[in-house]
Amino acid sequence: MQVLGKNLIGFTESSEGTVGIQAINPASGEPIGPLFFKATPSELDLAIHKANTAFAVYRKKSGVEKATFLEAIALEIEALGDTLTERYIAESGLPLGRAQGERGRTCGQLRLFAGLLKEGSWVNAIIDTAQPDRQPLPKVDLRAMELPLGPVGIFGASNFPLAFSVAGGDTVSAMAAGCPVVFKGHPSHLGTSELVGRAILAAAQKTGMPDGVFSLVFDDTIEIGQALVKHPLIKAIGFTGSLRGGKSLFDAAASRPEPIPVYAEMGSTNPVFILPKTLKEKGDTLAQAYMNSVTMGVGQFCTNPGLLVIEKDDAFVEKLESVSAESNGGVMLNKGIQSVYHKGIEEFEKYAKVISFGKKPEGFTSALPVIFKADYQTFKDSEILKEEVFGPSSLVVEASSREEIMEVARNLSGHLTATVFGSPEELADYTDLLELLEQKVGRLIINGFPTGVEVTHAMVHGGPYPATTDSRSTSVGTMSITRFTRPVCYQDMPDTLLPVELQNENSLGIWRKVNGEMGK
Ligand code: NAP
Repeated sequence: MQVLGKNLIGFTESSEGTVGIQAINPASGEPIGPLFFKATPSELDLAIHKANTAFAVYRKKSGVEKATFLEAIALEIEALGDTLTERYIAESGLPLGRAQGERGRTCGQLRLFAGLLKEGSWVNAIIDTAQPDRQPLPKVDLRAMELPLGPVGIFGASNFPLAFSVAGGDTVSAMAAGCPVVFKGHPSHLGTSELVGRAILAAAQKTGMPDGVFSLVFDDTIEIGQALVKHPLIKAIGFTGSLRGGKSLFDAAASRPEPIPVYAEMGSTNPVFILPKTLKEKGDTLAQAYMNSVTMGVGQFCTNPGLLVIEKDDAFVEKLESVSAESNGGVMLNKGIQSVYHKGIEEFEKYAKVISFGKKPEGFTSALPVIFKADYQTFKDSEILKEEVFGPSSLVVEASSREEIMEVARNLSGHLTATVFGSPEELADYTDLLELLEQKVGRLIINGFPTGVEVTHAMVHGGPYPATTDSRSTSVGTMSITRFTRPVCYQDMPDTLLPVELQNENSLGIWRKVNGEMGK
């Protein structure tokens, strides 16, 4: 399969635009061919109309049929072999191991959702049978389940060119739910996006899915993204990226004549608390482990630990200074992200002290690790120090008492994760901290670092604003499917006209709640 620089409008390749978009190798600064063309408003409109037509057919596909489609996508992605990993490395500056790992995660994610669909109980079928003899009034028959919303618009994340891009978590959960996807590719990995887009379409054709079940459009300005959100046939949005971008899409969606949900994951500083006794006993090991987490993927993870809260401990800070000075930076994903990172560091330097700078490698967009420290009062008074600096940097806040640690936690905004390191006895002593943190985050981690997000049934990758625009959901793991569904209740519907999941016979053998009791 070749990269041709095309928008993929359903099963049709298209490049009717005249404005070029150039892929750049972030390690060398060299352009990578071919030239892509910014999608035109009419190409976007066609993609959305195709998605809307496809919805009528795709929403009726059985769980097994959709599962077969998702499994076929995984096979097509794997069949891309080195063509995909080579393009991924050239466009992202990330190493081969990461490319392979992310491909594995992407295909694993597709297969996890396929399993969910085959099992089928995710639709949350609830049946309250009629009681015609009930006094003083008869009770009607009510049956409810989750149904797909309609065509969904999704924005690729820059920092996961596979697992959170074209066939990533948002796309898979939407397509598993029964929603066609119109995908706005991230300009940071154009060729990787096209290859995966072609893999999805090849799988769709092989498994009999309708034209329009998936489309891929490119742009390196916000024009096409804004038009996608505002298009009346689009019924929900999935996004991962900056707070500014996510909030702008949320506002645009809310001001439509028909507002629609926007599931934007916008990152956070993921505070880590190391309790005093554990800091004394395990400080050396934790300093190194912390730096590994801060520099992983050149710090370009939404779960990067950007804030470390400790009770002042000079020995630990000295250790951190020595390990962070030895830590390596790397090539960032693109010039824009590198420039935002450098600006963030310059701002932090005005308010916090630098503990140490790490090593900066060669490369067009290279960046070095930086660790800052500030006391509690300085942190409390500075809004800048509470902001995320996307990259391999982190801030250590030195509290002078237990109460100051609690105050930091009390004043946190919403985050994706919070972590507490402590012995069982210390944790038992800090249950008030744990209870505070569970109200602020989507995932509370004990004695582990937040980087590394397992794709499972129980994962929650979300959290209160500003971590996301909707704290009631997750963008990783199978629970994400219900972002793209809504419950529908049927009253006194004839059995044969009900969706198969709600018919008396339960021929699919799924778990259902019938008159308040779970059963098959
Ligand atoms: P971004 O600037 O938010 O862009 C993400 C995608 O959304 C791009 O396709 C972008 O289009 C589009 N977009 C952004 N603002 C938009 C708007 N107002 N209207 C319509 N479309 C819009 O994120 P990024 O390019 O990935 O990285 C920039 C910064 O985002 C980073 O420095 C970092 O701070 C943050 N980030 C956070 C996470 C996270 O974990 N949540 C992940 C990656 C990045 P164009 O590129 O075509 O303009």
